[in-house]
Amino acid sequence: MSFEIASLSALEILDSRSRPTLSVTIELAGGVRVSAGVPSGASTGTREAVELRDGDPARFSGAGVTIAVGNVNHEIAEHLVGRSLDSLAQADEAMRTLDGTANKARLGANAIVGVSMALARALAAADGQPLHAWLPGFGQPARLPVPCFNVLNGGAHAPNPLDFQEFMVCPLGAPSMAESVRAGAEVYAALRKRLVAGGHATGLGDEGGFAPDLTEPEDVLAMIVAAIEDAGYTPGSSGVAIALDPAASEFRQHDGTYRVAGQSLSSTELIERYAAMVDAYPIWSIEDGLGESDHDGWQQLTGRLGDRIQLVGDDNFCTNPAIIADAISDGIANAALIKLNQIGTVTETLEAMAVCHRAGYAQMVSHRSGETPDTFIADLAVATGCGQLKTGAPARGERVAKYNRLIEIAVDRPDLPFGRP
Ligand code: PGA
Ligand code: ZN
Repeated sequence: MSFEIASLSALEILDSRSRPTLSVTIELAGGVRVSAGVPSGASTGTREAVELRDGDPARFSGAGVTIAVGNVNHEIAEHLVGRSLDSLAQADEAMRTLDGTANKARLGANAIVGVSMALARALAAADGQPLHAWLPGFGQPARLPVPCFNVLNGGAHAPNPLDFQEFMVCPLGAPSMAESVRAGAEVYAALRKRLVAGGHATGLGDEGGFAPDLTEPEDVLAMIVAAIEDAGYTPGSSGVAIALDPAASEFRQHDGTYRVAGQSLSSTELIERYAAMVDAYPIWSIEDGLGESDHDGWQQLTGRLGDRIQLVGDDNFCTNPAIIADAISDGIANAALIKLNQIGTVTETLEAMAVCHRAGYAQMVSHRSGETPDTFIADLAVATGCGQLKTGAPARGERVAKYNRLIEIAVDRPDLPFGRP
């Protein structure tokens, strides 16, 4: 069925970190009118599609997005509006060709992904379907994902001395979507109590997790395990397990070593430290355990822990189907983080997930540290049946919006299974 875009426009709005981003509004010839908000990362992979910023120091210290907004309002709109289109994939391909670069640097991946997300939402609405039911899958049946709540923040997301970026609690053993969200919120509240009792600050990092003055990752892990127990859950895969995203590219030094709590560790030493953590704490997943260019280290990490836990590539994979395919043949990781704006279109995001699925790699759909209230990723996680979504703490509106969307979907679709495939 062909369709026509009647109008397409963008605005410069603020994200959750007070930095400019885009809101894109699309109207179809049939009258459907919807918008999408574009996310933005802080600990980005070097091979991500390019987020176009104005660079004008007089506005938002150079972070304005008026050029990207102008690209939606003029070049992209002139190319797509009024034209007969057959599919989202065709529109995404038309924008890639119009951009003409390998990494969407000319028009901006932030401009292109906003149009792509808004168009998917519009086509779903025109079809009378919720987004999760409309989005095309690739052989994994739809299911409700385990939410991975980032309850304690460090690294590039908080000004505290903690090098590891994210400590997540994942209610793997929860019986339902609503009960898993409840578990996340109860553990978060219990953790806050523990921090207060220990005399630690309870200010929040960019993703809504606490950002106390702790330095050793093992101290954080012990505190989270205690909070899981305080909240009345069993630590581990039958109850609430822990996932880490150290985001190790951020603390890798020029000489190739990793700076953790003031110590310099080789790749091998850091891998052994992870192995000891996996022995001592209920960790089921580690994302970006090593730096994005530490190819040999990643192979070693995969050999050491890949049959015990999930190892997720983020900075090194960039949701890029070609990069992920290479990593799969090199035996790196066993799962990929999936972020729409890392690659820049919905179509390529689905392709990246399909590449993973075919190779037996798990996929974890993810927010960015800079977010809007847009809930697209909740529907994406359900539609693709990947079984895991990380979207920050069970706190702060832009994070909670996604978890609340999952609760709504679960009520509308009681037939969907919950949890990992
Ligand atoms: P980012 O962090 O959105 O700042 O890149 C998220 C992550 O590293 O997973
Ligand atoms: Zn990450």
